[in-house]
Amino acid sequence: MVEAGIARTLKQWISSSKKVALLTHTNPDGDAIGSCLAMALALSQQGIDAQVIIPDGLPEFLRWLPGIERSTTFAYKKEKAVGIIEDADLIFCLDFNDPKRVGPVSEYLEKSKARKVLIDHHEDPMNFTDISIVETWRGSVGEMVYLFFKDVFADDVLNKEIATCLYVAIMTDTGNFSYASSYPDIFHVVGDLLQYEIEKDRIYSSVYDAFSEDRLRLQGYCMQEKMVVLPQFQAAYISLSDEELSRFNHRKGDTEGFVNIPFAVKGIKFTALFVEKKDRIKVSFRSRGSFPVNQIAAEHFNGGGHVNAAGGDSFDSMATTLSKFESLLPGYAKWLKDE
Ligand code: 5GP
Ligand code: MN
Repeated sequence: MVEAGIARTLKQWISSSKKVALLTHTNPDGDAIGSCLAMALALSQQGIDAQVIIPDGLPEFLRWLPGIERSTTFAYKKEKAVGIIEDADLIFCLDFNDPKRVGPVSEYLEKSKARKVLIDHHEDPMNFTDISIVETWRGSVGEMVYLFFKDVFADDVLNKEIATCLYVAIMTDTGNFSYASSYPDIFHVVGDLLQYEIEKDRIYSSVYDAFSEDRLRLQGYCMQEKMVVLPQFQAAYISLSDEELSRFNHRKGDTEGFVNIPFAVKGIKFTALFVEKKDRIKVSFRSRGSFPVNQIAAEHFNGGGHVNAAGGDSFDSMATTLSKFESLLPGYAKWLKDE
């Protein structure tokens, strides 16, 4: 995956670095955290001080991951996080294609004189690093980090802990192998990770069966009261206001995965989730097939992403955002129907 010339440069950069910072995007998912922790653990084996910076916070279901003590949340420990970025000789940006995706951390990323490396699988990456390794067909950055280890590190750096982080990255970004994973390579990688005796079923349970009662009841509320199904467009959406989230003692990460709920309804190909935040409405889109939700996110909701998974923001009220969304659907009706 990493070209020989670039791999040589990277080897040199890594061996001449004492301190490395690894950045996740805001609202980090299993791929962002798993990839960064795997890389941090591998680098620390080489005697490098490698630290992960999370802009806003770590979801509960990822707190058990090996190496998590190497992460610092900018929102809670700003001084420490800024120090790590300022002191770094090398910065890895994993799982995002635009410096804006690290929120308030972008200011420090841009100011830093460190060498910068991007490893990502999103389309249309911005040019903000010295080296970018981008493979949009890969289901996760976790898989790319695995290949990076093979190409850039001379020795086998994998162990059970690192393999666990990579497996979480791959598993979560493919919805436990239900999308973005229909190619042989990914199963070769997973097959190799299993050689390190990762506890696959336990990992699944730690990630997916780790919800609070409140979260599960919020999910039930979404299904019963909030899901709007529009069969004429093969679309469905869910919206949640701040008040509704508070009613269910919402915690960070609780709405993760809700956007996929309506796919369980036969025929649904396009789903959306709208969640009210302090200053905006966070929008998430998912599709099945070739319907490009990243286009809708980019054109109408200040966002972007992948063909089948994208997101953005709306700065209108919830009511205005929802009616805007509904009014867009007729324009895509033919596309959704032809699928
Ligand atoms: P999610 O719906 O889980 O927040 O995001 C799904 C995917 O959409 C992410 O992996 C990312 O590629 C993309 N995405 C989400 N929010 C944004 C955004 O605000 N801007 C851009 N450019 N992409 C986003
Ligand atoms: Mn990813």
